[in-house]
Amino acid sequence: MILKTKPATKEARIIDFLIIGGGPSGMSCAIALKRKYYQSRITILEKATLGRKIKVSGNGRCNIGHLISSNTQVYNDYDYQLKLLSPANQVLYQQFLLETLNLITRNDNGLLYPYSKESQTVLDSYLKCLSFFHINIVYEEVTQILEEENAIFEVVTTQNHYLARKVILAMGSPAYQTTNQYSFLAPYFQAKKIQMKEFLPGLSGYQISTNISQLNGLRLTAKVSLVKSEVVIFSEVGEVQFKADGISGIVIMNSSNTYQRLLNKKNTKVRLDLIYDLDNKLSLEAIINSLDKKLIAYLTKNYLTINRYLLQNWELSIKDTYDFSAAQIAIGGICLDEISDSYEFKKIKGLYAIGELLDVDGLCGGYNLMHAILSGLILAAKV
Ligand SMILES: Cc1cc2nc3c(=O)[nH]c(=O)nc-3n(C[C@H](O)[C@H](O)[C@H](O)COP(=O)(O)OP(=O)(O)OC[C@H]3O[C@@H](n4cnc5c(N)ncnc54)[C@H](O)[C@@H]3O)c2cc1C
Repeated sequence: MILKTKPATKEARIIDFLIIGGGPSGMSCAIALKRKYYQSRITILEKATLGRKIKVSGNGRCNIGHLISSNTQVYNDYDYQLKLLSPANQVLYQQFLLETLNLITRNDNGLLYPYSKESQTVLDSYLKCLSFFHINIVYEEVTQILEEENAIFEVVTTQNHYLARKVILAMGSPAYQTTNQYSFLAPYFQAKKIQMKEFLPGLSGYQISTNISQLNGLRLTAKVSLVKSEVVIFSEVGEVQFKADGISGIVIMNSSNTYQRLLNKKNTKVRLDLIYDLDNKLSLEAIINSLDKKLIAYLTKNYLTINRYLLQNWELSIKDTYDFSAAQIAIGGICLDEISDSYEFKKIKGLYAIGELLDVDGLCGGYNLMHAILSGLILAAKV
């Protein structure tokens, strides 16, 4: 006898929350939603590997957040920052790490790391939690979103079609050698008149126009200023790392976010004050004796004389930033004006966007993971 199983009805096939992307934003959102609505059907569609960027974050140590104690601007949009980092949201964040992920953190001068200082611990905590809550993970790539009747979405992948009441876009950005697929969003957003800014490499180093290959491997601490047509538009002290064709380091990566947002990038230079912390009364000879020999040899070869002015105002012309493969994040994404406080699109009810896919970028220091995770948690709290 052949037993025939009835095909599932349309209603039975409908998923309550369909999350596209299994990075920190998507995984955090799924876990928080499941804790809130235990009976709900939640699926994450992930095209490659869960939490791939968590693994490489912070050089394998994963700087997962920051204890914010000042009003310093760390995200591109200050009004958004004030809402995101409200005291209540910071508590939400800490509770999620400790009580839901069971992750103890270590506070290194405000920077939060897993206690083990290993990013694998963070990833393992996520994977355990997803399994504990029986969250359905499907490894497929989304290629299209369609709106069905009665406020239901149809999400198309390379293999299947899914029906969902609420769809959450958590697909991150093209930073760091990803082949993340966004092209399918373009025609949909165009039809709905939704604004999305072009992605550009963020938190990246600069390629330098002049030949600095002689300095390859040099690391020095300087006051770094980004200068556009003689106006200083960014300034911070930090370590500059020289490569064969450019410069990098945290301070350089932070400045690159300001650089990328310039509409006209011509005549932009990096100015290094190599002696910002030295007393003016010190003799030039003593200063030169104290600087790196490789640096002095380079300056001697390329400038007529080494004087105090040069050491305080050494300028390097920027050719470009490095490309996405060397970028930690992307500048650009879905404009914040398009979404409500619960991360729902104002023009498409039931559709949400979180994490790096939004036009939100933070400086180095745990702010980007904090945004990715918090945006997922806030969505779950408000939906
Ligand atoms: C080298 C490096 C170091 C970093 N270090 C730090 C750090 O120390 N601290 C910090 O705060 N931040 C750090 N970051 C940034 C941080 O990792 C990201 O901001 C964060 O991962 C963004 O999370 P997300 O969930 O929005 O996106 P992602 O982590 O990019 O996740 C998006 C997921 O969506 C999937 N996806 C994409 N398109 C599709 C599709 N069409 N269908 C199905 N799935 C899809 C992708 O495969 C991916 O798994 C670092 C980044 C890099 C690259």
